[in-house]
Amino acid sequence: MHKKPVLLILLGCAIGIWLAAAWLKENSVANVVVAMSRTADNEWFVSYKFDEPVQRATFVRNSDHSRIKRWQPLEPDYYLAIDSETDQEYIARVDGNSFNSVAFQLTPSYVMLRKDYAPFAPFSDGGVGWFSGRFKVCPESCSSALRFTYDFSMQAPLSDYIRLPGESARGELQWREEASDGVVVYVGPQAPREALDDGLQTIIDPILPDSLKQRLARDVPPMKAFFNQRLPLLEQQPMLLASFSPTDNGRFGYQGGVIGNQMMLHWYGHSMAERATAPYFVEDTLWFVAHEIAHLYQGGQFTTDQAWIHEGAAEFMALSYLRSIYANGIYLQHRVRSAEEKCASTSDPIEIHYACGLLWAQQIDDRIRQQYPHGLYFLWFTYVNELATQGRRDSADLYFELLAQLTDEVFAQQLRAQVAARYPQL
Ligand SMILES: [Zn+2]
Repeated sequence: MHKKPVLLILLGCAIGIWLAAAWLKENSVANVVVAMSRTADNEWFVSYKFDEPVQRATFVRNSDHSRIKRWQPLEPDYYLAIDSETDQEYIARVDGNSFNSVAFQLTPSYVMLRKDYAPFAPFSDGGVGWFSGRFKVCPESCSSALRFTYDFSMQAPLSDYIRLPGESARGELQWREEASDGVVVYVGPQAPREALDDGLQTIIDPILPDSLKQRLARDVPPMKAFFNQRLPLLEQQPMLLASFSPTDNGRFGYQGGVIGNQMMLHWYGHSMAERATAPYFVEDTLWFVAHEIAHLYQGGQFTTDQAWIHEGAAEFMALSYLRSIYANGIYLQHRVRSAEEKCASTSDPIEIHYACGLLWAQQIDDRIRQQYPHGLYFLWFTYVNELATQGRRDSADLYFELLAQLTDEVFAQQLRAQVAARYPQL
């Protein structure tokens, strides 16, 4: 064969591959338009539009089945159901035909989802924080090879501010997201303020007792300073949302969460004034807030299958912060003792993440401090930096690798075995 035709064929192939790759890149993304709206009467609606007709739309996050009750289709031709095989909620048409768009009216009250962020956190001044991740659907199924993007929009009366970290508007705001996680969108009367000295955007429910508001204003800046001295600095200004919702079933407590650079603190119960006078309310609040701030500094690197790594570390960091400010010693002893008791007896994996996680983090800290004074923080400093530069998602291996470097192989292996023995499913 002559050289020239071979070269031409090769060139032809290369162009073909290049064109195919460009076509695949163009066609491997499916976009979903998600339009959220709130009326002046606090009625909430969500509507979806798809590029191509779909037979069903499956929700990305399925921590319970409460959408079935809390979402009403605007047209009777549509319904929500649960896939018996995957246990995921989905939208479909009654007649089985495909569709390009669908809309629902929503119930914008607080529900606690054990394994996910609350879809709506109402504020007593009429504001609402809603979690965009709850509203993401995949055309057909989420296991498809397509990459999904979401064009969100929020429409609200002009009296409302619509706020995202670093963005704010009145009337309407649009933004784009990928499939992972989401953001908390604040819609309500609280206007964005110039960044304060403490470098924090705050949206705080006015119903929270003054004592708690003052504590947040007074305690959050030194907490941030504490973490700034020990962990890589935050790249963006964080947003703090603190809210409260009343309950009438006797349940009370608090729930927090960190998504990206947003930190949510939510209290619920009969009344906040009653809660605020309970014994150790101050210590509990400090622990809770320090735990969530620790997550902010963990750089969004949360392993899902070995959650003890970040939950246990956040528990330990809360404990060490409270020790550093000489908080009530009896309270701190009680927290450690109750973690020991729970770790020894519970069979709930979530409790193991927190209770055993605290004890394992303490063990790691003791051992690293034999050589490095910052102990567990030093491990986390290198861990957060490595994850940020390498972008590794399977991070448990990396955690043990770095632990072995700061201690030794034997200690890292022992701890790994201890963890594996405690989670029967691992
Ligand atoms: Zn946590």
